[in-house]
Amino acid sequence: MLVVTKFGGSSLSCAKQFKKVKDIVLSNPMRKIVVVSALGKRDSNDSKITDLLYILHAHLKYSVPYEDVWQIICQRYKEVRDDLKLDFDIEAELKIIESQLDKSIPQDYLVSRGEFLAAKLMSSYLGYEFLDAKEVIEFNYDGTVNFEVTERKVKERVSALKKVVVPGFYGAYGNGVIKLFSRGGSDITGSIMAKCVNASIYENWTDVSGIMVTDPRIVKNPKIIKEITYNELRELSYMGANVLHEDSIFPVQALNIPIKILNTNEPDCEGTIISNECKDNSQAITGIAGKKNFVAITIYKRHMSNEVGFLRKTLSIFERYNVSIEHIPTGIDNVSIVVARDQIEKCLYELIVDLKQELGAEVTLWEDIALIAVVGRNMANKKGLCGKLLSVLGENGVNMKMIDQGPDELNIILGINDSDYEKAIKVIYDNIM
Ligand code: ASP
Repeated sequence: MLVVTKFGGSSLSCAKQFKKVKDIVLSNPMRKIVVVSALGKRDSNDSKITDLLYILHAHLKYSVPYEDVWQIICQRYKEVRDDLKLDFDIEAELKIIESQLDKSIPQDYLVSRGEFLAAKLMSSYLGYEFLDAKEVIEFNYDGTVNFEVTERKVKERVSALKKVVVPGFYGAYGNGVIKLFSRGGSDITGSIMAKCVNASIYENWTDVSGIMVTDPRIVKNPKIIKEITYNELRELSYMGANVLHEDSIFPVQALNIPIKILNTNEPDCEGTIISNECKDNSQAITGIAGKKNFVAITIYKRHMSNEVGFLRKTLSIFERYNVSIEHIPTGIDNVSIVVARDQIEKCLYELIVDLKQELGAEVTLWEDIALIAVVGRNMANKKGLCGKLLSVLGENGVNMKMIDQGPDELNIILGINDSDYEKAIKVIYDNIM
């Protein structure tokens, strides 16, 4: 029985948080692998170390004086060490980094030092060994994780060391050059570690007592989801729910290792459990998430539906511009391609010209679309849910522009105007949850 325990930046923002982490880790002897993020914000006006490191890199790159930013970073780590009264030479670690601060320092290496230093401090504080992620997490040169090599290395090192602290967020290519995951990537590190040692559970400790049914910035104090499947969570994460990095689901899902989302500040709260088997089937909807800023490009052509290959030709034009497509609602003589605005901003007008010329079609643009995903494993058996959704939104003056249900009936995607986004989420939460 082995538990992989990951702590996010808010659980490591200062000495007080480090103490909570220690209490949690030591209260269960199975917590043998601890993954840490960089130090997070101490309060809402504070800065995350990772953000400061990105700023530091930009200062170095553009030859802007950088000393002040560097001093703030050093101070944060020294303060934690001093407040914990740790006998750990953090100055020596900082000196090594400082000696490399120049224009050519690779961004990924510099930014990874946030988790590196946090893990060094935590390993000294817990009395666990420090295991550098660059020695175990190996990337292929195409940027994907080489699971075969990683698993072999993790198994070798973990069995030799017994109890370890691993910095999250990065690994290295075969040549030793450090590479970061995308932002929030310490979640992925935890998941990879859990997979490699076939952990009995992957605990992800954060500053909320589980995954909320919807965005708390829109609905005040939403309910906490007690149980959720990996697939449901993927749908919600993809559509903007940001408790857990979406790429952290696949590694553990294959082995059905449950993920628990827990609160470092309220360790006795049950939290949320993510697995393949959920016992509670009482709720039709598990969660609601969404995003603004989509664009629909609608293509009209008479007899389009009789023209074999029309859709293929259309999609190949989007492919040429390297645009990823979200949804494709179709009519008889028209088809809409829904894409995220940031995907298409740079090439929108060239793409429209190509669509018109190559397809001989009329093209119109609908901007400012928001997409809302209503997600639930139990929706498939509930009759009338779609009808109820549409009617409560209509009654509350939300104009539905598009509706799409995934083939597995795990989600219903609603397309509305950006300006109706917050209202629509509130209406669904208040009337259907
Ligand atoms: N420190 C990194 C970030 O802020 C990675 C993480 O915390 O997961 O994105």
